[in-house]
Amino acid sequence: MPEALKRLIHNISLLPGIGENRATKLAFFLLNANENYLKDFRENIVSIKEKTDICTSCWAITDAWRKTCSICDDSKRDSTQICIVEEYLDMLTLESAGGYTGLYHVLWGAISPINWVFVGDLHFSKLFERIESSDTKLELIIATNPNLEWEATSAFFTEEIEKRKLKHKVKITRLSRGLSSGYIEYADTMSLVSALKERKEV
Ligand SMILES: [Zn+2]
Repeated sequence: MPEALKRLIHNISLLPGIGENRATKLAFFLLNANENYLKDFRENIVSIKEKTDICTSCWAITDAWRKTCSICDDSKRDSTQICIVEEYLDMLTLESAGGYTGLYHVLWGAISPINWVFVGDLHFSKLFERIESSDTKLELIIATNPNLEWEATSAFFTEEIEKRKLKHKVKITRLSRGLSSGYIEYADTMSLVSALKERKEV
């Protein structure tokens, strides 16, 4: 097998969920693909890091040319609601389910001492800044995945709000426990919409 093809198979096999066999099939697909498709694909791979950045308000991924993302910039969205999610993917899932018109905050993980993820590794400080600088009372919707890590994250967050004397500035709610799979990422649209609608105050 040519060295270039071997290297391509190796690159593809490192993508999540793709084994050696599938990587080989995909490499052959690329080998036979038309030139325009390959050109576009190559440019997107090369520029993905350079053309994206993190929103300086909610920590979602945004276009590199904007300081804040299109959701934070949208004046039609309700800025008194902030939905706190573990991962950017959770935010995308909630967004595509529809029905939620507030803002988000992405923590990029959950506290997990077993995996060496601690409070300092997550993006809490910007969230507290957002609460402190808000002129109006905010509703913080904790969009939880039902695991121990997130329970720890959520408990830390509630305690910290008390400690920083921000309780009067926020109402904390969480999604109702109606998600069939439990996880936002795998939940169906109907369950997500009703979990949001039927959220409960913590
Ligand atoms: Zn944003």
